[in-house]
This record gives sequence, C-alpha cells and structure tokens, in this order.
Amino acid sequence: MPIRQLSETMINQIAAGEVIERPASVVKELVENALDAGASKVEVVTSGGGLNLIRVTDDGFGIPERELALAIARHCTSKLTEDINDIRSLGFRGEALPSIGSVSRLSIRSRTASSDSAAEIGIEGGRVLPIKPAAANRGTTVEVRDLFFATPARLKFMKGERAESSAISDIVKRIAIAFPTVRFTLAGSDRTTLELPATDDSADGSLRRVAQVMGADFPDNSIAIDAMREGVHLTGHVSIPSFTRANALQQYAYVNGRPVRDKLIAGAIRGAFADVLPRDRHAVTVLFLSLDPAIVDVNVHPAKADVRFRDPGLVRGLIVGAIRQALADAGIRSATTGAAGMMAAFRPGSPSYAHPGPANGHRSYDAAYRASGAAGFDPVRSPQRPLDIQFDSPGFERTGARQGSGFGENEQAAFDAGPLASADARPGQSEAAETLLGAVLGAARAQVHENYIVAQTRDSLIIVDQHAAHERLVYEALKNALHARPVPSQMLLLPEIIDLPEEDAERLAVHSETLARFGLGIERFGPGAVAVRETPSMLGETNVQQLVRDLADEIADNDTVETLKERLDKIAATMACHGSVRSGRLLKAEEMNALLRQMEATPGSGTCNHGRPTYIELKLADIERLFGRR
Ligand code: ADP
Ligand code: MG
Repeated sequence: MPIRQLSETMINQIAAGEVIERPASVVKELVENALDAGASKVEVVTSGGGLNLIRVTDDGFGIPERELALAIARHCTSKLTEDINDIRSLGFRGEALPSIGSVSRLSIRSRTASSDSAAEIGIEGGRVLPIKPAAANRGTTVEVRDLFFATPARLKFMKGERAESSAISDIVKRIAIAFPTVRFTLAGSDRTTLELPATDDSADGSLRRVAQVMGADFPDNSIAIDAMREGVHLTGHVSIPSFTRANALQQYAYVNGRPVRDKLIAGAIRGAFADVLPRDRHAVTVLFLSLDPAIVDVNVHPAKADVRFRDPGLVRGLIVGAIRQALADAGIRSATTGAAGMMAAFRPGSPSYAHPGPANGHRSYDAAYRASGAAGFDPVRSPQRPLDIQFDSPGFERTGARQGSGFGENEQAAFDAGPLASADARPGQSEAAETLLGAVLGAARAQVHENYIVAQTRDSLIIVDQHAAHERLVYEALKNALHARPVPSQMLLLPEIIDLPEEDAERLAVHSETLARFGLGIERFGPGAVAVRETPSMLGETNVQQLVRDLADEIADNDTVETLKERLDKIAATMACHGSVRSGRLLKAEEMNALLRQMEATPGSGTCNHGRPTYIELKLADIERLFGRR
C-alpha cells in the first residue's frame, strides 16, 4: 500500500483513543472547559452512565458564533499563547472537542455576553453540521449523545452503567474540590446526584467544599497542612491516623489547581504516614501544590492527569516533611468517630442498644454526639502544656548512648525505662494530684482488666490501652535512637556484587554517603555494577539484591532513599511491639501516671503503631447525658 495522509476524522479518532477513555473523561474535559470559561455554575446531566447522554451547562463567557467552527477543529484553542511552559488554564491542547465529536454526536450551543442570541453547531462521528440559531442564556451547553457509536471496539470496553456513573461522580468531585467558589450539580438517570453549593475561596471555604465531598466528619478528623519550600507551596488537609480508609481513593491531589493522579505524590503520602498506619490502611488527604508553571510539566499525557516535576526530590521532601510535622504538632489526638461510636454503643435506648439487629446499628449517633465526643488535644490551642517528663530520660539515654551497642540492647533499655520512671504524685492525695487533673490525660485512678488505665481530668474520663500506648512510646524512642546516630552495620563475609543498569549504579553511588549512615555500605564495582560490603545489623539476613534494586528504583523515581529508612522503621516498630508492656501486667499508680505523662510528651502517641487509638476520652457532660442527668 502506498503511504497516504490520514483523514481528519481518523486523526481525531486516534486522538480520542487517548483523551477519551470512558464517559468520565468526556465529563472531565467539558467541565474543565466550563471552568476555563470562568463559570460560576456548572451543571452536569448524564444518562446511561454517560454513554447515552452527557450534557454540561455553564454560565461562562461563551463562544462567539464566528468561532464555533474553530472550537471543534483540531489544534484550535483560545488558551495557549506562545509559551508551552506557562500553562495556567486546565485545557491547552485544543483537541478535546474534535476528539469527542469524532466518536459521538456532539452539539455546542453558546451565547456570549455581547450577543443577543445563541448559536449552535453539531458534529457527528466527525461530520460537521451547519451552524444554526438557537435560544439560550449567556454561557455554553455542550451535549454529547451516543458516545463511541462511531468506534464500537471502544464501546465494548465500557464497564456498565453503574461503574461509569460512579467514575463520573468521582471526577466531578475531584475537580470541584479545587473550585470552591463554583456551584456544581450532577444529575444522572440513576441515583448519582450531587449538589455542591458554592462556598468561598478562604481556607475555611475551601475546607467546607472538601467536607461537602468527603463527608461532614472529615474536618473534625483532619489537620491542616501549610508549608513552603523553595517556591513550592503545599496546602490542604490530611486525616489524623485513626481516621483511615481501606483504599487510597480518598486521596485528592492538585497541582496548580489541576487534579492529578501522581505516583510521586501518592508515594510521598504513604511515606509520611508509614509510621502511623498499618500497611493496609490509607489516609484521607486533600493536597494542593502551587508552583511556578515553568518547573512542572503537565503535558505528559493527553488526558493531562500526569505531571512531571523538575525537582521530584524537593516535592517529595516537602510533602513528607509537612505531613509528618503536622502530625507531630497535632500531638496525641484520637479520631472523634471512635468516641462518638462508643457513645452510641453506650447510650441506653439507642437503636444499636435496644435492637442489636444489623439494620441501623451504627447510625444512631447524631451530629451533637459527634461534636461533643470530640477528643481533641491540640498543643497549640490547649492552655495546658504537656508535662515535662520525657520518655528518653535518664534510663534510656544512659544505655542508648553506650558506644557500639547493638540494637537489642537499645530495645531492652527502652523497655526498662518505660513505665518505671516515677511521677512525684499520688493521685487524689496531694496538691500535685490536683495539677495532674489539669493535664491532658489527667490523673491515673485505676487499672482494670489488667490492661486499661482509667484516668480522670477536670471534665472527662480517659481510658488508655496500656499496651498500645507503651508500644508507641518504645517505637518513638527506638526511632529517635535509630536516626540520631549512624545505624550499626555488619560486614558481609564476601561483598555482594550486584549487576545493574549503569544509570542505576551511578545513582546509588551518588547516594552512598546517606546509605552508609543507614548502615548500607555500597560502592561502585566497575561499569554497571555495585558492591555491597555492609548491611544494617537490624535487617539480619536480608535479600541484599532486592533491597538494592528497590533503592535504585526509588532513587530513579523520587531521588530519595526513604525505602531503607522505612524498612528500618518497620523493624523498630516490630521490636517495639514485642518489647512493650504486655496487657496483663499490673502497674503501680506512679507507673500509670508516668506512662500518661510520657504519652503527653511524645508526638504521635495518640495512635499505636498500627493506627489504632491508644486512648479514648469521654467528656463528663456526655457521661451525665448517658445517665439522663442533662
Ligand atoms: P482546549 O480546552 O484545550 O482549548 P477544547 O477542544 O476543549 O480545547 O476546546 C476548544 C476551544 O473551545 C477552547 O479553547 C475554548 O476557546 C472553546 N470552548 C470550549 N468549551 C467552552 C466553554 N464551555 N465555554 C467557552 N469556550 C469554550
Ligand atoms: Mg478543553
């Protein structure tokens, strides 16, 4: 066959293969266009999971009649000036409308502010229909019918109405979070309706929009993030460690207002929470990155959901650092839902109490209970500073600092130092006890079932899971010891030679100093190979090949060596778990109080290493309510 130029329609259908994967991609492109047109209201209507109909109506500035034909012509855009490095709109490729028009029946009806009537153009499977007058308010309505009728192969890949509808709803939510001042509505033929009234662009307005999308309990169970590094600004909210999900779908990320699904960001979030969440739980996050458009490439894929940062290490470091800092600053804080759920379980006459059937079990608590059950400790707002009893006080420091001590000894030291440091108060008997009542976790009163410390503050009852709490304290101490000085390493009898692509070998060599600090002695071994001479003692017999390859991958992706640090932390966590006060151990009053004080002084001690709360707080007011006294 001779070489021929593809027809315009063929070219558009090929582009559609990339841009328009499923109905939700159409919704995404049309909503982005509405926002680029400055809309304050965006209305989406679909039927048949978007395969029969998608209609997006906006009140934006519209398209003048004379430009309608250009809007559906390939490579025509009003958004890109001369500089591909300076993209400030959501669209810029000028290929969404012609692509959609090549695989469906598309019509655009639009009216600008300066025109006294609207006009409409259509395109069906790539065939352009003549422009005709129409009636409409200012703004644009784009209607897409029979998506993929012109490309039946693609149609076969659709997952069914339910799945497509939910993908549409997800994309609308995802975009809406970045545009709190815009009102969004979504109506489908099934029950996927969504109504997101406009808020405002203050921090509070933005959080209210997030709550509309993520649920009203998110704000109470999240902490604000606001950090800046080398011109990159990170804002948003992340859930506290006891408020998690089974998958990462509730992690929303934005780069300059554009929703993205980015491996680097997802990895950074995982890294930041690695310490406080079990492997199979995921934080709920909304993160906005804003940076100079010149140092991020959004033109990686036609769907524009991928980005590439010029300095990935900077972005990762910023995210991990900011989240960890925020978690530490938030101190010990358990999820409000925990306390609220418990109140519901206790409440006499609540549905779950009266009818233990499956029907409406945990729906019984209401907003009032949620709010009043909030067990928030905020060291910034709290008038009561944590008491100054540090976990890494005398006993621990002494042993931990011993030169060349193996890790097992540190573990033992941490264990010994744990509950035995004494607080100088006997509850209920002295002035000191009165002071303890003012502490965040109060004065210990009793130990019950050999694992729960019951404590009292001025206005609440605290129950601490002593094993979970101590496990966390030991872990934090081990980690501090681990990262405060070089990690002990063991020499391998024979160096392990690992063949790698030359770039990987080079990358590892560049990071060899950091790796050495973590106990991994690695050096170049001729072209395309490295030699490992030492490994961290903690890792014991380890698969060196796999570890080094993982590290090489991570450096290639993110320019960091977090993998090794995370592995070491994980081992510290396991050791902490085994070295901690088992449930079943009887504690003296001083020991209990010492544990409470250490918790107050230790960042992150509101949850155990597996993300479960270490304590719960019941407000006196709630207890009185339980007994009908209020
Ligand atoms: P892009 O968004 O990349 O420019 P599109 O194919 O999505 O490409 O849209 C082509 C052009 O049509 C846009 O540049 C814009 O000028 C115009 N347009 C599309 N949708 C709208 C809308 N809802 N309101 C105003 N103009 C629009
Ligand atoms: Mg567009």
